[in-house]
Amino acid sequence: MIRRRDHYKLAGRNTFRMDVGCACWIEYDSPEDLSELDLAALPQPVVHVGAGSNLLFTGDFPGTLLHSNIKYYKPVADAEEEVLVEVGAGVVFDDFCAWASDNELWGAENLSGIPGEVGAAAVQNIGAYGAEVKDIIAQVKCFDLEERRIVTFAPAQCAYGYRDSAFKHAPLKGRQVVLGVLFRLSKALRPRLDYGPLKTAFAQAAPAHPVEVRQLILQIRASKLPDPALIGSAGSFFKNPVVSQETYDHVVAVACAAVAEASPEGRLQARAGREERCDDREAPAGKRSVGRNPLGVQGDGKEGATLVAPHFDLPGGQVKIPAAWLIEQCGLKGARLGEAAVYDKQPLVIVNATGTARPADILALEKTVIDAVRDKFGIEFHPEVEHIGPDPETPKKI
Ligand SMILES: Cc1cc2nc3c(=O)[nH]c(=O)nc-3n(C[C@H](O)[C@H](O)[C@H](O)COP(=O)(O)OP(=O)(O)OC[C@H]3O[C@@H](n4cnc5c(N)ncnc54)[C@H](O)[C@@H]3O)c2cc1C
Repeated sequence: MIRRRDHYKLAGRNTFRMDVGCACWIEYDSPEDLSELDLAALPQPVVHVGAGSNLLFTGDFPGTLLHSNIKYYKPVADAEEEVLVEVGAGVVFDDFCAWASDNELWGAENLSGIPGEVGAAAVQNIGAYGAEVKDIIAQVKCFDLEERRIVTFAPAQCAYGYRDSAFKHAPLKGRQVVLGVLFRLSKALRPRLDYGPLKTAFAQAAPAHPVEVRQLILQIRASKLPDPALIGSAGSFFKNPVVSQETYDHVVAVACAAVAEASPEGRLQARAGREERCDDREAPAGKRSVGRNPLGVQGDGKEGATLVAPHFDLPGGQVKIPAAWLIEQCGLKGARLGEAAVYDKQPLVIVNATGTARPADILALEKTVIDAVRDKFGIEFHPEVEHIGPDPETPKKI
């Protein structure tokens, strides 16, 4: 069945809670519904959305938003060590994580609590706490809007990278609608405890059931990230910048100079220390964060202190710097502008502080952060959050 709503309000359809509208909202229940749609006859452009947890609506959207209501769990294979289960794109991703954990199937527990739906998870390659969804994806089933037929993608064809996939780029972007995702889950005990706090928590006794890991992950997330049910946000707002070694050295020098200037009578002489660390969402699977005090200055100030500038060395000599650290170095942690704020527990997140923020509030704070980081460190920030609005260039066209 297809449900069409014209002049539809989107406040309940995006986790930032932007009170904007779209010219047309279409929700569909099946691939057949999709194939029946005459896309050219709909208000343009046509964009597919999930739960709107990685989106910023920058104003009323003049086109059509498609949303999947395809919800199913289909067991495909049940072997001694693993199961294959296909899950509909419209299923809430965390419901799938809960289902897998409750059924003692390993693989999704570290991804517990990430907002959004299964379809978008496969587009975004969501990840957290030492796991990425690509690790458990066996196949992605899509509807090709140009060829008007169902096509399947093996993991290699999805070209998964850090929060990236072929579905985010031409020629697949906007053309392939995810219908369902085939997940490979393990019946054998297979906890992933690379992330420091998990390793510590289970140092004495390894988890025997995925629910144990899931519950801890949910607790950790609740202590660090805004609950979308209570505070509007779209999670990490900016991408972590990847810079040259030279630029990283410049960042360290600027940060050291700022520490030295702020110390009383110049007693605290900062010098650069290096520490391999990324924020929790940053560390690619297989590499771990090792930092203990990543944001601060170490030492008692008598003989100089070491400024620990967190970073992550990438192949080819490039360096990834946690955007959250750069924002904090600019003094913007917890900063408020209008109805928007930089989240005080995690500066990478911009929040709808009062619940009544308008797109202009979020955009003004976004610009403030970008300008401050550029002015202080010469680094150009790029938003991770996808902007969708009246500007015909911002959304991708289907
Ligand atoms: C508080 C908070 C915490 C978060 N924490 C994390 C985290 O730890 N790790 C992480 O990776 N992300 C995190 N996110 C970001 C977000 O949860 C993910 O990006 C999620 O996958 C978005 O899902 P969605 O259904 O809301 O998709 P949307 O935001 O609506 O859309 C995201 C993209 O997917 C496309 N899309 C959606 N559905 C389909 C479909 N069926 N077919 C084709 N394309 C589609 C859209 O066009 C868009 O490009 C967080 C967000 C919030 C608000």
